[in-house]
Amino acid sequence: MAGRSGSIAIGIDLGTTYSCVGVWRNDRVEIIANDQGSRTTPSYVAFKETERFVGDAAKNEATRNPTNTVFASKRLIGRRFSDPCVQSDKKLWPFKVIEGNGDRPNIIVNYQGEEKQFSAEEISAMILTKMKEVAEAFLGCTVKDAVVTVPAYFNDAQRQATKDAGLIAGLNVMRIMDEPTAAAVAYGFDTNEVNSPVKKNVLIFDLGGGTFDVSLLSISNSVIEVKATAGDTHLGGEDFDNNMLNHFVEEFRKKERKDISSNPRALRRLKTACEQAKRILSTTTQTAVNIDCLYEGIDFYSTITRARFEELNADLFEKCMETVTRCHEDAGIDKDNIDVVVLVGGSTRIPKVQQLLKDYFNGKELCKNIHSDEAVAYGAAVHATKLSGRGCEEIRNLVLIDVTPLSLGINVSSGIMDVIIPRNTPVPTQKSLVYSTSIDFQSEIIIKVYEGERAQSEDNNLLGQFSLSGIHRAPRGEMKMEVTFKIDSDGILHVSAEEPVSGRKNEITLINREGKLSREEIDRMVCEAESYRMEDEQFKKKVLAKNSLEDYTYRLRKLVKDDQVVSKVPGGYVKYVDEAVNKTIEWLEHDVLKDASEYDTKKNELEEMSSTLSKMSL
Ligand code: AMP
Repeated sequence: MAGRSGSIAIGIDLGTTYSCVGVWRNDRVEIIANDQGSRTTPSYVAFKETERFVGDAAKNEATRNPTNTVFASKRLIGRRFSDPCVQSDKKLWPFKVIEGNGDRPNIIVNYQGEEKQFSAEEISAMILTKMKEVAEAFLGCTVKDAVVTVPAYFNDAQRQATKDAGLIAGLNVMRIMDEPTAAAVAYGFDTNEVNSPVKKNVLIFDLGGGTFDVSLLSISNSVIEVKATAGDTHLGGEDFDNNMLNHFVEEFRKKERKDISSNPRALRRLKTACEQAKRILSTTTQTAVNIDCLYEGIDFYSTITRARFEELNADLFEKCMETVTRCHEDAGIDKDNIDVVVLVGGSTRIPKVQQLLKDYFNGKELCKNIHSDEAVAYGAAVHATKLSGRGCEEIRNLVLIDVTPLSLGINVSSGIMDVIIPRNTPVPTQKSLVYSTSIDFQSEIIIKVYEGERAQSEDNNLLGQFSLSGIHRAPRGEMKMEVTFKIDSDGILHVSAEEPVSGRKNEITLINREGKLSREEIDRMVCEAESYRMEDEQFKKKVLAKNSLEDYTYRLRKLVKDDQVVSKVPGGYVKYVDEAVNKTIEWLEHDVLKDASEYDTKKNELEEMSSTLSKMSL
């Protein structure tokens, strides 16, 4: 969707573990720091008795309030509850995920004393809203338009669901952009390769917190063209953490004969320690994992070596290398013809990953120059600027050519998937094929749309289905029907079918299929998101009013203890004010937050006393 020409548009990297936002300002991309001064914000949402936190404050809640602190919504978005990935992830998450409507995963939390269910889209929307607010605070104006990035290997459902999350957050998602393409833009601009007439083949190796992408692109003369992309939307730092977590859970079971796997708090604490240990192992060869009172009062003290960590994850690292091979083979480019290998994503700091990659490219130095945590948001900000018609000449001239990550087709007789758009076809694209009936005098045809690389339709992912009825009845093979697949610039598929004799036509944008949010659900979530935002604001108002009263009360207490004041004011009045101050302090110590107006009224009363005191002491 186009943005309003001239208005400021931002680029958001919506990550599994961290998110990042950038904007074009003063002739360059600025990566925006959040209210804590950090340039990346944890993709966490925590629900509490009285309030909701997003970002750093939410991550801080993770060990204290594990069942109500939600993270990794990117691993759920656009997936079905029955998806094996969801089933295995949910076992390790301290928050609860249940089956919602249409096989959709729903996250259950306790918020404001009530059990609430949220979709992954809603949680992601809360993170997007936070990033929007970070940008608004920096720019001092409202922001509506954004480019949001997704892993290149995200399928149609995951892309559409991310777009829905943007909608719920009140954003106009101008474009869903592939993360490696965004990183390539950052690389192209950073190195100025984008303006070079000499074509360079650049491989972006993007291993983040939860997803893995490899893209091979060519860059020259302001054109960044994706040649092929491959990846795994469920492979990243979280998996390495989980493997270490399982290793220690097993160790605890052996040592103490106790199973901590059903205790969310213990799991969360151990997982946090594993993530820290993993990071340390990127620079040292051995580290300790020490947790006091991990489970039933038992302390857990252990060590792990880099070699053991590498062994635990050897299969996953190997999988990464296989994906690299598939990517450049798909592009038809020999590995010797790859000029630069760019590392993106926090998990590329793992030495073993770097070593395997370097070995694969026969000792080639890897490019670690671009900021791995910020490159994607940088590229997204450049694209957002271009789409909003702003920016410098370089940005206006930029041409981005993306590809579709998965083959798309329909089920034909005998259960085979007939590919209409092969993977790695440049997008946007449109292609039509003609099909005929397989049964005599058929009056209806069911069209089932799949994505994936397997020959049998049922081994691939069913995106949706629709029927064309009332068609011209004819002997088998004689009736012709044209099926058209169109992929838009967001990588989202639209399918139509037409039978020319009867003129019957039907089409779907694959958004209303089972497991997807309906228009009504999105509208409801938009309203709810707004009401949560209002609640947050109310909460902030209450806290501000309380703080202001507290501050004022302590200042007044100081005043009634000041000898210079006390000596000039009748003792009875001093006592009266002192009592009022003490009562207010006692009242403030109650946990439950009151309405802002109650604090304001009390403050007004104290202000009057203070002004009388001042007058008397003159
Ligand atoms: P990203 O999604 O790109 O922000 O990557 C986040 C992932 O990178 C998380 O799983 C982090 O644990 C991981 N990560 C960050 N720094 C390091 C490091 N020094 N060594 C290993 N993994 C890291």
